[in-house]
Amino acid sequence: MRVDVVSIFPDYLRALELSLPGRAREKGLLDLAVHDLRDWTHDRHRAVDDTPTGGGAGMVMKPQPWGEALDALAPDGATLLVPTPAGERFTQRVAEELSAREHLVVACGRYEGIDQRVLDESARRLEVRELSLGDYVLNGGEVAALAMIEAVCRLLPGFMGNAESLAEESHGADGLLEYPVYTRPAAWRGHEVPEVLLSGDHARIAAWRHAQAVRRTTLRRPDLLPATTTGETEVRPAVA
Ligand code: SAM
Repeated sequence: MRVDVVSIFPDYLRALELSLPGRAREKGLLDLAVHDLRDWTHDRHRAVDDTPTGGGAGMVMKPQPWGEALDALAPDGATLLVPTPAGERFTQRVAEELSAREHLVVACGRYEGIDQRVLDESARRLEVRELSLGDYVLNGGEVAALAMIEAVCRLLPGFMGNAESLAEESHGADGLLEYPVYTRPAAWRGHEVPEVLLSGDHARIAAWRHAQAVRRTTLRRPDLLPATTTGETEVRPAVA
């Protein structure tokens, strides 16, 4: 997959050189480049913003540098991701969809956002996805871009060392949050690992984990519960 990110703070994206995205680049699964939007300005001040037409607070990102940047970076048919709190919610399903794309271009907005005409013009030849990380407002699109790129990259075939890690995660196919997890030692500061996990009985362990996943989801995110699961398991509020 090819990913191009455009930002006025390219250093913000340096985290993409670390950890799993960094490894994906080394493995050749991910071809990623970060660009400074100001490289497409032509004035002495390298200005990327101007006052909002019609009045109001703040500044708006100018169409000209964005237009030229996207002409240079986004071939016809590529997918343009535009992080915005006014967008469709970014979910694991969206991450799965995007992981099948060949080329993503991420446009990180700042100030009051990007002039709408950049998106309208881009939609003539690109798939444009305006995506929100959640119902809160960040200062810029960079944090959202980091989150979205990481969520998409870990779904690329060959990206995760152990593909089974993806199978039972929260927000997976069964719609449940993941059950609580434990490691050694079996007792720590007076807290015991649940006995069933030490039993070696795989069927019992699987049943316990499923019940815990249902309980957690019921308590924390009932909106996620598949209709078939409701009422299946008694809900006890003792789960962490
Ligand atoms: N005036 C905009 C509005 O109310 O919709 C908010 C602009 S915000 C201060 C600046 C930039 O941060 C946005 O253009 C977007 O790139 C990014 N941003 C802020 N919150 C976000 C969110 N929840 N999800 C994705 N991007 C966000």
